[in-house]
Amino acid sequence: MNIILLGPPGAGKGTQAGFLVKERDMIQLSTGDMLREARTSGTEMGNKVAEVMDRGELVTDEIVIGLIREKLEGPQKGGFIFDGFPRTLAQADALQALLEEEGQTLDYAIELRVRDEVLVDRIVGRARETVAAGGTARADDNEESLKKRLMEYYKKTSPLLGYYHAKGNLKRVDGLAEMNVVKASIGAILDA
Ligand code: AMP
Repeated sequence: MNIILLGPPGAGKGTQAGFLVKERDMIQLSTGDMLREARTSGTEMGNKVAEVMDRGELVTDEIVIGLIREKLEGPQKGGFIFDGFPRTLAQADALQALLEEEGQTLDYAIELRVRDEVLVDRIVGRARETVAAGGTARADDNEESLKKRLMEYYKKTSPLLGYYHAKGNLKRVDGLAEMNVVKASIGAILDA
């Protein structure tokens, strides 16, 4: 079972991916997490990625496709959850080709539907919680970057909803519901 979690920043993709990893032995492939790891490397590529991310813009397709390619060659366990990837149509095409190379298919693209108004609260809340727990908030979890990230989502990522709908893979869940309810809705799709 291979799925994509689609939705704007703050929709709950990471939270739901976490549940699927724990309960279904799936593998979470978050390009955001991979990029955050790359930026700590101190390499020229890492520094460049950091600047782009902090502005709330998308890094190049080439970089993220390269990151995903490496992971698809590794263990597959209960299947992959693509979290924050693909974010452009070029990435969606690349994903299809990469899965084909591995003899795999995409089962579902699951959209977590939310309203923009709640995203700011969720993201600012996430930053606050991280700091309260003694951590460092994400550099892009502030209102200015968030506006840019939302714009990038609408311009470049939301066309994927039409793309997966046309392919017959799109499923929708109410991302505003309580997180256990969202989890149950996703579970029902996977078990259908
Ligand atoms: P995320 O953790 O998914 O919210 O991603 C954080 C940031 O990493 C995004 O705002 C982008 O700058 C970058 N990023 C993550 N995934 C991708 C992707 N698939 N394509 C381009 N940029 C990405």
